[in-house]
Amino acid sequence: MKICTKCGVNKSLDEYFNQAKGADGKGSECKNCHTERTKVWRKNNKTKELEKQKEYRLLNKEKKKEYDGNRKEERRAYSLKYFRKNRELCNARSRGYKGKNREKIKEYGKQYYHENKGYFSMYSRLKDARKRIATPLNGDIKVIAKIYDKSRELTKKYGIPFHVDHIVPLKGKTVCGFHSEHNLRVIPAKENLRKYNKLITGEA
Ligand SMILES: [Zn+2]
Repeated sequence: MKICTKCGVNKSLDEYFNQAKGADGKGSECKNCHTERTKVWRKNNKTKELEKQKEYRLLNKEKKKEYDGNRKEERRAYSLKYFRKNRELCNARSRGYKGKNREKIKEYGKQYYHENKGYFSMYSRLKDARKRIATPLNGDIKVIAKIYDKSRELTKKYGIPFHVDHIVPLKGKTVCGFHSEHNLRVIPAKENLRKYNKLITGEA
């Protein structure tokens, strides 16, 4: 028998948890008191509790994402089924929307073109080039689009047309150049080279 230091009750040794440090190999608090103290400790140790909650939320977030993802497929399948069943109605609605929003759609297309001019000119040049030779696009598309943007910038700045030039021609006599950012430079269009030189040297 041993008196618990917490509740002061005299209890048998098996009412105490084992503890190597104790003189009798048992803790100084009875099992009840120890359990109670642990509970209180957990309650007070908020940081740990919060961390656990955070972990739980994170786990749930992933689960929710997965759930929403599954639903997405379901929803898509449903609307496709709906469209097939009501094709005429859907098409009429779409025509109605397009008719009512002709200007809006046109404006949107224009804006999209304006914001992505570099891409458009790059792809149209690429198409031209491909007619002449199979040209691999082996560069960084974003960097190449920027080079075309630069060309337009300079055209605006100097008031004469600038071109994107392939340093090694795409179809040279001895060697073929690549459509890569390392093989591209912005120069004034040939017929304007003299004009450009006058411009930058300040001659009239
Ligand atoms: Zn006790």
